[in-house]
Amino acid sequence: MPHPNVITLSHPVIQTKLTELRDFTADHRKFRELLNEIAGLMVYEVTRDWPTTPKPVQTPMERTTGQVLARQVTLVPILRAGLGMADGVLRLLPEARMGHLGVYRDEKTLEPISYYSKLPPDIAATEVLLIDPMLATGGSGLAAITFLKRAGVQSMKFVCLVAAPEGIDAVHRQHPEVPIYCAAVDRQLNEHGYILPGLGDAGDRIFGT
Ligand code: URA
Repeated sequence: MPHPNVITLSHPVIQTKLTELRDFTADHRKFRELLNEIAGLMVYEVTRDWPTTPKPVQTPMERTTGQVLARQVTLVPILRAGLGMADGVLRLLPEARMGHLGVYRDEKTLEPISYYSKLPPDIAATEVLLIDPMLATGGSGLAAITFLKRAGVQSMKFVCLVAAPEGIDAVHRQHPEVPIYCAAVDRQLNEHGYILPGLGDAGDRIFGT
């Protein structure tokens, strides 16, 4: 059943690269390269509804009015695997600022615990792209969204690569208005919280650990 407010990017080029990425023989160099390429391709769709504002421009021929993004952009990778998508997104949005967020959800209190955060001071007024390749149990995604909302963020999209239905349900139970963009919704989690069929541990595959 389709999940409301989950946008799966089924573009054939994205799917081809995702299939190569899932392949266990892809080494960390190949994995990083593919992950950044997919992240860049996803940006087109993710940013499609962002508002623009008119901007006068002098062409070599005459003066005209173009359109530019109306708001600043902040990219927030969830440490550590989110870093693996950051360069691909920045290639398309080079003006974006980047916040860093290391968070998890305390399993007892369910409160978001941040062990590292460095965000632009005016993040509240910007378009925020929260990035993490794997939406598994949803614990860190949920914690990150709660943390960013407390920092005043109004406009946020969660960009991942592969999502598990369990993670989508967990995030959207609390934050149904935050759109989740992914390249695939996989079947399920295993007993260790890994996504099936998934692609293994994204952080280990990105960083070669
Ligand atoms: N994190 C990963 O890197 N992979 C999974 O399958 C689940 C969580």
